[in-house]
This record gives sequence, C-alpha cells and structure tokens, in this order.
Amino acid sequence: MPSEFELIRRYFAGPTPQAVLGPGDDCALLAPTAGCELAISTDMLVAGTHFLADTDPCQLGWKALAVNLSDLAAMGAVPRWALLACSLPDARPAWLESFSQGLHRCASRYGVDLVGGDTTRGPLNLCLTVLGEVPAGAALRRDRAVAGDDLWVSGQPGLAALGLAQLQGQVGLSEVLSMRCLAALQQPLPRVELGLELRRRLLAHAAIDVSDGLLADLGHVLERSGVGAEVFAAQLPSLPAGVDPGLARACQLTGGDDYELVFSASPDKRCELAALAAELDLPLWRCGRIVAASADRLTLLDEMGQALAINGKGFDHFG
Ligand code: ADP
Ligand code: MG
Repeated sequence: MPSEFELIRRYFAGPTPQAVLGPGDDCALLAPTAGCELAISTDMLVAGTHFLADTDPCQLGWKALAVNLSDLAAMGAVPRWALLACSLPDARPAWLESFSQGLHRCASRYGVDLVGGDTTRGPLNLCLTVLGEVPAGAALRRDRAVAGDDLWVSGQPGLAALGLAQLQGQVGLSEVLSMRCLAALQQPLPRVELGLELRRRLLAHAAIDVSDGLLADLGHVLERSGVGAEVFAAQLPSLPAGVDPGLARACQLTGGDDYELVFSASPDKRCELAALAAELDLPLWRCGRIVAASADRLTLLDEMGQALAINGKGFDHFG
C-alpha cells in the first residue's frame, strides 16, 4: 500500500506547465493573466448519490473534472487549473491508476493543470475545484437574459438520463442508442469551446449549463434575469427513435447530467449561431424565447401553440 505522499506523487502530481508552483508545497502558486477575472467553481461527487460506487474509475475520473469544467464553459471562461480533494476507502493501485488516467485525460483534453488537492481516507467522495480565466467584465452570466431573446440549447439533452434509465433497468435501448446514451452519462463533453466562442463573439446574453435538467436550469436563468420563457416543444431536438416518446421527452426536459449549454441570444445572431454550430460540429437548437416575467415563469408550448403540462422540473436534492 503506498503512503499518502507516494500516492499523490504517483497518481496525481503530473506536470503543471501553467502553474508557477504545482503540487508538493503548502500551496500552489498561480499567476493569473493581467486583465482577467478568475472564474472558480467547485463540485462534490458522492458515491451512491452522484455515481454508483462500482462506476468504471477511468470514466469517473473524467466525469469528476468534466462536470466542473462545464461550469467554466457556461461562463465563457478559459479552463486553467484544478484542485482535487478526495477521500478514498482504500488505495487500490488498479483503481487509482485508472481513475487518475481518466482525470488526467480530461485535464489534458481541456488544457487544465492539476495544481493541488487533499487526499484522505474515508467513504469515496470526490471534490474538484476548477479555476478559469475570463477578460474582466466579459463572463457569460445567468442574469443577463432579456425579453425578446431567442432561447437556445446545444447538443442532445436527455441522452444521459436515458443512459441512467437503461443502467437502472427501466428501459431497453438499442445497442447503438445505448452506447450513445452511456457515453453521454459516463463521459460528458463539457461545452468549453461553445462557451468561449459565445463569449468571444458576443453572441449570448445569458447562459447556464444543464446539470439538473433543461427546464430546471433554464428556470435559474429566468429567476436571476427576472424574465419568463416560452419553450417550443416542436423545436427541441427530435427524440431518439425506438424509445417511448413520453419517457424520451421527460428525459429531454427534466433529465440531469447532460452538461449542454442553454443560452439566450438576440434574434439578430441567428445566422452567426448557425455558422458557429457548423464550425464546432455541434447542433444548436433555437427552442424558445424569452418573454416578460409572468406568474408561471415558464410555458411549454406544442406545435399548435397550446400549453403543455410540466410535471417535475428536474432533479432537486432536497425536493
Ligand atoms: P498540507 O498538509 O500542507 O495541506 P498535504 O499533505 O495535504 O499538504 O498535500 C501535499 C501536497 O500534495 C500539496 O501540495 C497538495 O496540494 C498536494 N495534493 C494532495 N492531494 C492531492 C491530490 N489528490 N491531487 C493533487 N495534488 C494533491
Ligand atoms: Mg492538506
């Protein structure tokens, strides 16, 4: 069994070209870029709550970092540094090897240096902190949506929830669809490039990443911006074939763990957004519009413009 310090050295303390000083001292030393603000976010993943204890460790390492990078993506920040605080029930080399490989793979894919952390023994619990940079005053925020904006969502929200339903034996998916859904659940791709380009090209007013469900997270934007929204069900991405449409729609609207971006943008940006979607090879769906605040903040409309019932607005840990 490696000692705590050997374990850190062996599995976590990789090269950190973006830090003045990386793991090994009492603090890491970082030199932020002049004129930038730091965007900082932390997320905890608890075994049994956020992932199953027997989750493939390599996928877990990827996901633990990826879900944090998604928060940077939503703010249009450039990912720079990360810290990992973890408690581990034991120090099994095979598990650690695989976990750290997934973590480092994600870090290198998105250009992040793991600059420090804390390692203790205890129930499996992973807490990642990420730091990114954004030019002062330019971050994408939740509180900037205005009435008249179009509402957009990236990718295929709902696949991760379908993947989870499959793992829990609640639905049988075709092999091809199952692979897509499990990849979405286990190896989410934070939309970092999308967030950066929305911010750089001044395309979005407000943005959020979808961690708890499309409607739930959209609700946060509406609340913070003091506006309402109409979502057009018919303009959402088409539902995957071969799955009960009710279940697929529920996953799309309320399923968590997708890490797509929802954002609002002025209607005069439609052409630029279509071009950006093509450039990034990532579908962007114009699926609604921001309206003045009203009693029920969020209306879901069918093709005929009739309001549809919204049952369950996503996943709330204390709900
Ligand atoms: P201290 O006791 O001063 O808090 P630690 O003994 O906890 O320091 O950690 C020693 C060094 O190893 C620190 O630089 C810390 O940031 C780093 N470190 C600890 N755990 C991790 C980890 N899981 N990943 C990356 N770096 C880590
Ligand atoms: Mg410590």
